[in-house]
Amino acid sequence: MLDHRLVGLVPTMGALHAGHLSLIRAAARETHHVVVSIYVNPAQFGVKEDLASYPVTWDGDCRILAELDRELADDGANLGRISAVFAPTTRDMYPSGFPGQDVDSTGSFVTLTPVGQVLEGASRPTFFRGVATVCMKLFNIVQPEKVYFGQKDVQQTVVVKKMVKDFMLPVDVEIGPTEREPDGLALSSRNVYLGERRRRVATLLSRALRAAESQYRAGALDRESILRAATQLTTDVLDQQMALSPEERVKFEVDYISLADPDTMEELAEVDPRRGGILSGAVKMLPVEAPRPGEDLGHSGGPAVRLIDNIVLKPSV
Ligand code: AMP
Repeated sequence: MLDHRLVGLVPTMGALHAGHLSLIRAAARETHHVVVSIYVNPAQFGVKEDLASYPVTWDGDCRILAELDRELADDGANLGRISAVFAPTTRDMYPSGFPGQDVDSTGSFVTLTPVGQVLEGASRPTFFRGVATVCMKLFNIVQPEKVYFGQKDVQQTVVVKKMVKDFMLPVDVEIGPTEREPDGLALSSRNVYLGERRRRVATLLSRALRAAESQYRAGALDRESILRAATQLTTDVLDQQMALSPEERVKFEVDYISLADPDTMEELAEVDPRRGGILSGAVKMLPVEAPRPGEDLGHSGGPAVRLIDNIVLKPSV
């Protein structure tokens, strides 16, 4: 709180897109001073992950934020505007020295288990430790009344809410809806790695989750009936791709398709219609096997790209 004015924090890793901007717009509607942080936190990247090639678009991000700030100023319905961009260095964020990216690195970490160990945490064992640690630091530096996170990273929202609850942090956590491309692909800074060929196939995850959602909407509550629709879709898409030549096809691996409890992210055998559930998934789009001459393979030569997405199954009674 600054002079009885509310501070809203939107943490990001930069490479801003419409998903980030929708969170900033929500923050400007509800708080006077919006602080956007831009920090690619090495602690939440595994040693073999894409830290070195993660898109850094500082000048473009500043232009986008300046434009958005003018738009916010023109709309009288907003309480506030973008008051600051906070872009710290790793030296700023880790005053005792950066503890390292290894699973067994020692240092000052915030750990939330078991919620940080399942799903994304199972595939990326240091991820939620890194996220919770950096969020704790950002909350302490900025001291916001409200923090804004995207539904796109559903497990992250559960981890942050749990951290706020269990460490009694004096902050409200607000969640903004997932922004998507017209064909359903959830916006992500990492989509630039896909290139055109893989981009076309990348809708398979959102389509699989929607297929599972329609089972729930049609009345199914058991895991098997709900998830079968999603698995069928991913299998069909993979079969279609494998029937194509290496110069045309796209290969991918499904990491998980999950039906989980909205508060704990523990797997559900059956949805309690009074509580609903979270359908989520992760798919690894493998690098193109046989590039065509001159083909644009995506940012950084088109490495493997992990896509995540989710749909909330709302309580139906
Ligand atoms: P990132 O820069 O990817 O760490 O994301 C920063 C914030 O933006 C996180 O709270 C994300 O959940 C949120 N975000 C990322 N993609 C989207 C999206 N497509 N729609 C809404 N929020 C998003």
